[in-house]
Amino acid sequence: MTGRLVGGLEAGGTKFVCAVGRGPDLVAETRFATMTPAETLARAVEFFQCQPSLAALGIASFGPLDLDPRSPTFGFITTTPKPGWARTDVVGPLRRALGVPIAFDTDVNAAALAEQRWGAARDAGSVVYVTVGTGIGGGAVVNGRPLHGLAHPEMGHMRIPHDRTADPFAGACPHHGDCWEGLASAPAIAARWGQAPERLPDDHPAWVHEARYLALGLVNVILTLSPERVVLGGGVMARAGLLERVRAHLKELVAGYVNAADVVAPALGERSGVLGAIALALAQDGADG
Ligand code: ZN
Repeated sequence: MTGRLVGGLEAGGTKFVCAVGRGPDLVAETRFATMTPAETLARAVEFFQCQPSLAALGIASFGPLDLDPRSPTFGFITTTPKPGWARTDVVGPLRRALGVPIAFDTDVNAAALAEQRWGAARDAGSVVYVTVGTGIGGGAVVNGRPLHGLAHPEMGHMRIPHDRTADPFAGACPHHGDCWEGLASAPAIAARWGQAPERLPDDHPAWVHEARYLALGLVNVILTLSPERVVLGGGVMARAGLLERVRAHLKELVAGYVNAADVVAPALGERSGVLGAIALALAQDGADG
């Protein structure tokens, strides 16, 4: 593959992944645990400084983020509950050290971009990527660009119908209780049933609720954004049969009113974050033909 080398940084709450490549075949990669902001960003700077000169860097970060280039806190992680990381300038130290153009976006917007370029949404013009794990996050690519607004989508915190007779659980989101993430993320399942989701058997009633909650959120996303494809990933989706159950509920909920998007598993798996960062950098560099 020809083209200029770019860097990609996946900034996650538990690990950072730094990579260099011209596309999905990486030429260098390292990963390390997320420590304090100063230690972690210094380690990322050190990795990229040891690489041949880069045309651009993409950063795919956990959020919430300030993505407004006119804002004095552009490039910051803003209000995260992760200890020590609220109001952290992520872009600044890397820009000062490397002097290259930097593209900065949410991990899920970047994953949507990567799945569109190289993964499960290659022939789709508009893509939504939703991950169901320690939280629920959603990103979108519309007309070839990651979707931004006042900030960026926070699909995980949308409100969905919650029948408290069928499921009296109050929800696990510290901000909203029974928002989508509060009902259907891995910690919500664990709090509701007293066991981590991976320990629950396939026939546990948890999965009946889970499939329904995921479909209720997805139908809102699909009717709002009209994506051609929805990529549904994250640790919870590793459960055998869950994707098929979500699809069946979704079909019922849409009730034939519109052509609902295909809902598919990711093709890039755990690499969607770091490849998303590379895709952001390529888009920034204009090197994507
Ligand atoms: Zn919430």
